[in-house]
Amino acid sequence: MELKKEVLAKMFYRMNQSRFFDVKVNALYNQKRIAENIHLSVGQEASAISACMAMDEGDKIIMTHRHHAQAIGSGMEVHKMMADLLGKAGGYNSGKGGSEFSSDGVNLGAFNQPDTAYTTACGVALAQKMNETGNIVLCFGGDGTSNDGDFHEAINYASVLQLPIIFMIENNGYSGSTPVSKTMKPQKLSDRALAYGIPGMTIDGNDALEVYEMVKNAANLVRNGEGPVLIESFTYRTCGHDGHDLQLYRSQNEVAEWAGYDPINILKEQLIEERILPLSILDKLAENAESSIEDALSYAEQAPEPVMDSVIEHLFA
Ligand SMILES: [Mg+2]
Repeated sequence: MELKKEVLAKMFYRMNQSRFFDVKVNALYNQKRIAENIHLSVGQEASAISACMAMDEGDKIIMTHRHHAQAIGSGMEVHKMMADLLGKAGGYNSGKGGSEFSSDGVNLGAFNQPDTAYTTACGVALAQKMNETGNIVLCFGGDGTSNDGDFHEAINYASVLQLPIIFMIENNGYSGSTPVSKTMKPQKLSDRALAYGIPGMTIDGNDALEVYEMVKNAANLVRNGEGPVLIESFTYRTCGHDGHDLQLYRSQNEVAEWAGYDPINILKEQLIEERILPLSILDKLAENAESSIEDALSYAEQAPEPVMDSVIEHLFA
């Protein structure tokens, strides 16, 4: 698939931005400047960001608790995300959302109970179908939640009603600290699509160009009314599951091996080899991405605290 140079530059920039964002957030968490638990996407940037960039205007994205990369991939602004994390009024949710609840109308937010994302996606997609918007839902999930009842209920419902959803399951090898081999029998998670009569595929989630192409192709099918698609994006998080994960369940050799298959480096090499963007431009993009996170932190630090009267705003029940 031929992609414009500007799109590829933006993809590389956002992947770097996500990496620097998560590294900074981890440092802030360790300094006890972030009250809520964190779930980072280090190593999974290609899967999240390329998939989000393959969406069209008006499409909706539903995320899990591990979602900073998806938010950045779909164009959410890092300074507002950082303000939310620090509990400041300048965030998307006026500092009341924390890490897991930033939403901007395109991204419908992360789901702290991640399996409920699937059934929520069905509701959003049904509304799109009934309103004939021509838009679709990109619903992220993890290998762990694909064993939950909500996943199977949602994928069956979406299949029967031919709802416009891409179920994007990021298989990062672990459900928390439990390896996938101990939570499911099939070698390929995408084989589960067979049970629901829908297309299923496994893709290399660390290859940003492959992710973009496969998600774009799936989006075309879904948008044409051919029902949902299940994509298993095979990837790996080289960071811990959450802020206090000691990672005693895996070897450092395993982590190092995957760190050698880093999605940012893979895209960098592809862009240089294909003579699409030179090293000098890529280094500048990475440098700009890093400084954007420093700027985001300054903005968040200077943003005001939420006022007490705002505590019951935006509550619906
Ligand atoms: Mg997982």
